[in-house]
Amino acid sequence: MSEPGSRDRHRDPTCVFCRIVAGELPSTVVHADDELIAIRDIAPRAPTHILILTRDHIVSAADLTAADGPLLGNVFATAATLARSEGIADRGYRVVTNVGEWGGQTVDHLHFHLMGGRSFTWPPG
Ligand code: 5GP
Ligand code: ZN
Repeated sequence: MSEPGSRDRHRDPTCVFCRIVAGELPSTVVHADDELIAIRDIAPRAPTHILILTRDHIVSAADLTAADGPLLGNVFATAATLARSEGIADRGYRVVTNVGEWGGQTVDHLHFHLMGGRSFTWPPG
């Protein structure tokens, strides 16, 4: 098991998102580069609900370090590009990552929800 901040980011063959990244499970891919893929959420909670996944198996944002700055820049730039192509940029959207049980994380592989097409309340429930 990886420690927080560990560089040990190998694929986990039991991880559903690692299997999606590897193409072993189907998904609707809307973006792919050497660090990330973005797919449509299987159970969308908004008119646009995209998941931006790291290709590496990173358990959550709790495992990120300052060295991941470029990776995170790519995440948010990708989110902004997708928001424009989805037509949700003008009215605004939400980018969120859930961490751990109380944070609402259900898949232990780092991902960012890009959600838009409706308004959202704050704070989240
Ligand atoms: P979390 O609850 O960890 O923040 O977000 C996990 C998200 O992954 C949920 O919104 C859930 O609907 C989505 N999800 C879970 N399994 C799959 C899958 O096999 N394919 C896709 N496209 N989304 C999934
Ligand atoms: Zn994984």
